[in-house]
Amino acid sequence: MTETAVRTSGFFRARVSAITDLTPSFRRFTFTGDDLHEFGDPGFDQRIKVVFPTSSVGVDAMPTDDDWYTAWRELPDAARPPFRTYTTRAVRHDVGEVDIDMVSHDVLGPASAWIERAAIGDELLIWAPTTAHTGVSYGIDFVPPARSEQILLAGDETAAPAIAVILEQLPADARGVVVLEVPHIDDAGYLPRHPGFEFRVAARVDDADRHRHLVSAVQDAAASLAPAGRGADVEEVDIDEGILWEVPRTAKGGAALKSAPLYSWLAGEAGAIKALRRHLVSELGVDRRAVAFMGYWRLGRAENA
Ligand SMILES: Cc1cc2nc3c(=O)[nH]c(=O)nc-3n(C[C@H](O)[C@H](O)[C@H](O)COP(=O)(O)OP(=O)(O)OC[C@H]3O[C@@H](n4cnc5c(N)ncnc54)[C@H](O)[C@@H]3O)c2cc1C
Repeated sequence: MTETAVRTSGFFRARVSAITDLTPSFRRFTFTGDDLHEFGDPGFDQRIKVVFPTSSVGVDAMPTDDDWYTAWRELPDAARPPFRTYTTRAVRHDVGEVDIDMVSHDVLGPASAWIERAAIGDELLIWAPTTAHTGVSYGIDFVPPARSEQILLAGDETAAPAIAVILEQLPADARGVVVLEVPHIDDAGYLPRHPGFEFRVAARVDDADRHRHLVSAVQDAAASLAPAGRGADVEEVDIDEGILWEVPRTAKGGAALKSAPLYSWLAGEAGAIKALRRHLVSELGVDRRAVAFMGYWRLGRAENA
């Protein structure tokens, strides 16, 4: 007797059914699809891969078997459909819909080009967990200690969808601070409110002003919320070659600590996150087992480049 393996992750074909401009920078894409009722929704900062069609290659060229990544890498450059990482914003199984909030930045990459020109009915592929996925989910990096007195959520606009879901899913008695840097002051209304969180949101004035608010506001918040520790040496991460992704967890995937006075989740442009990592770990001496540092993208470098 042969057993059919249950699919715990895979590609979903998704069709744009609505496009909503939420704020100047955040555009919500609502997708429908025949099998989206099986789209996994483990919550928090669940990351997914979105395969975008370009003018020269369509999404049907994407290898979709279990070992799709190896097959994709073996394709000649011109035959490779590009994919980028996004966050599941909402899933509505009853109507087979998924929302993804995408930031339109200067059109340079395949994702931003698609975001600018997409229309109702356009199709793409989304790699995500399925509803059959159980246990600790691959792709969730918000793993706070069960008892976290304060939570610091910080990032730039690319981290805002993840911060939004985390805020919606935290219990009402959670306490903490949100630091967000956005391109436009009217983007400040993007985040849902949480009664236990203080919001320190600011818009950058121009590109030269990038990271100023994010870095200084996180430094201030960490200095007042984190108990003073002994500074520790921090090994340098080469963000031009590798990625900066430091998420403390146990071998089984759970939180590295049972309790912490402060748990911090920091995501955004890798240069800013690298500067914050150095400051928090070597200068403030915060416990690394209670901070997730994630370089979501790198200034001047395409994802997968
Ligand atoms: C775990 C994770 C979750 C993410 N979730 C979201 C999400 O929900 N919504 C969202 O909008 N983004 C999200 N991002 C960020 C998104 O994947 C990147 O911004 C991606 O690089 C955009 O692809 P692109 O094709 O437009 O640009 P690329 O081809 O990757 O890059 C081309 C150029 O654009 C620049 N660039 C890339 N992103 C930005 C930006 N945001 N602002 C300014 N310049 C940029 C690069 O530095 C490069 O010079 C997430 C990233 C990660 C790792």
